[in-house]
Amino acid sequence: MTAMTDTVTDSRFEPRELPYDYGALAPYLSEETMRFHHDKHYASYVAKLNELLLDSPLAGQPLEDILLAADGPLYNNAAQAWNHAFFFEQLSPQPQREPSPELRAAIDRDFGSLDALVTRMNQAAAGLFGSGWVWLAADRQGHLSILAEPNAGNPLRKGLIPLLGIDVWEHAYYIDYRNRRADAVAALWNVVDWRCVSDRYARR
Ligand code: MN
Repeated sequence: MTAMTDTVTDSRFEPRELPYDYGALAPYLSEETMRFHHDKHYASYVAKLNELLLDSPLAGQPLEDILLAADGPLYNNAAQAWNHAFFFEQLSPQPQREPSPELRAAIDRDFGSLDALVTRMNQAAAGLFGSGWVWLAADRQGHLSILAEPNAGNPLRKGLIPLLGIDVWEHAYYIDYRNRRADAVAALWNVVDWRCVSDRYARR
């Protein structure tokens, strides 16, 4: 898997640009939400990461290696930088609605159906207390699992390969959905690009 944020010559990380316009995911995610989420929240994690790396022996390492090795605030900001680039990448205003045949077969085997997987992830999002992420992840053999991780938790730390990440921090939905996390997560499925998720599965 490639690093989700690219290094530049002075080894500082830069936020990855959105692969679509800020307003392109409306009405499911508004332009205002995307501007705050990308330009404020995500950019702040990257800025804090760079600040913390000034005093870290992990400076100059790829982001994924930092995420795997760091603890405390450095882990939190490295993981949030990685998680957000991954999150924005998997969304599209013209999403492919169906997983690849390969991923579809794994979903059917491990969850029964795509609808059942979506229901399980929605339930995990509703059940996660506080801030965090709900992940669809795979192991090297292709078996799928759902993880509900608090805060910046990332499946890579458990030796699993992230395929799809749902950000359930309030900052991800509060402008559009206020306290209605379930509505926000339900709406997100309209812009999840299963081509991206399937490509991640194929590359695992
Ligand atoms: Mn977020």
